[in-house]
Amino acid sequence: MERRSGALASLRAANRKLVVDALRARGMASRAELARATGLSRSTISTIVGDLIEAGLAVERDAADLDGESHAGRPPVMVSLDTSAGLALGVDFGHRHLRVAVSDLAHTVLAEKWSELDVDHSATEGLDLAAEFVEQVLAEAGADRNRVIGVVMGLPAPIDRATGTVQDSSILPGWVGVDAAAEASARLGLPVEVENDANLGALAELVWGAAKGRSDVFYIKVSTGIGGGIIAGGRLQHGVGGTAGEIGHTRLLPDGPVCRCGNRGCLETIASSRAIANLLSESRREEVSARDVLDLAKAGDSAAQRLIADSGQALGLAIANLCNLLNPEAVIVGGDLSGAGDLLLAPMREAVLRNGIPSAVKDLAIATGVLGERAEMLGALALVMHEAERFQAPALIAEGAA
Ligand SMILES: [Zn+2]
Repeated sequence: MERRSGALASLRAANRKLVVDALRARGMASRAELARATGLSRSTISTIVGDLIEAGLAVERDAADLDGESHAGRPPVMVSLDTSAGLALGVDFGHRHLRVAVSDLAHTVLAEKWSELDVDHSATEGLDLAAEFVEQVLAEAGADRNRVIGVVMGLPAPIDRATGTVQDSSILPGWVGVDAAAEASARLGLPVEVENDANLGALAELVWGAAKGRSDVFYIKVSTGIGGGIIAGGRLQHGVGGTAGEIGHTRLLPDGPVCRCGNRGCLETIASSRAIANLLSESRREEVSARDVLDLAKAGDSAAQRLIADSGQALGLAIANLCNLLNPEAVIVGGDLSGAGDLLLAPMREAVLRNGIPSAVKDLAIATGVLGERAEMLGALALVMHEAERFQAPALIAEGAA
């Protein structure tokens, strides 16, 4: 009898975890959606949701109130996790910016702050400012730091998974050799996980942006460098060492320019916004920034337009190869060069269709991301919601509480 009730309790805890994880991943859901997502019966869902609400860990919300639109008939009652269930902190370091935000597990950003940063800032300066911003967003949100269940910090640099240190990077030169996670944890007094920025962009577009509702997506960030994030079966793919998705180092020209990775002719050396800006600087005999390339192209400058189109073609070739391997349903293009819109995407589409096998690319959606400069910060928050086993919420997994 004892054993049977023990088995029952662990089944209840497992079911509760399924429901909580589904709520974390979705932000909010109706009871019917939860039943579909978890495979549990409507009555089991009702019991678990009732228990979570009674414990103050979940709340009911009216769908009509949330989107401000009137629904035909009675809108479904939505359920989301309450602020008391836990909070997520996201920190995003870019080439020249810092963003910090706090959100609840219902995907509501409660407060955020950002600042420009000197490109050559040191890791110490950057981390001190991040710690200051974390205090400020927590205060602004009226949030208790004890309820933070996860802090994710995005960096545009390769991270050595074994040692946690930032590898050689021309994008964050002041961070090389720094154990970013340990340094940040010490300053914040909270465990911090470091994640590649393109992986975070992928997750953000999946949860909040252009890939919402999809499950197999490739996100490509085309900026100073080129990175990528793979979502397969609704999950971010890290690979064994954390470098999955590094499409920027696909070799396209065997005798091409030397890349920061040590190889020659990588996609990044041909198609990144820095590569294009360098080429245009040479031909114009004046310093041209990535921003200038976009402005010139939009103003009709044929050299700038040509370089962006060439970049789109090269990206399309690499993406076609990737599609043959992974067969995603959508490719979302982010990073500063995505601001070129169809100047970049039209030649990219053409190259994907020409070089991919038809079954892999004929129905592929290619679109620009919609989250812009906030993508990586939102992705840092989304990682806390999505990877429940990495970021456990003590209140939510209390065994036998259901
Ligand atoms: Zn390379």
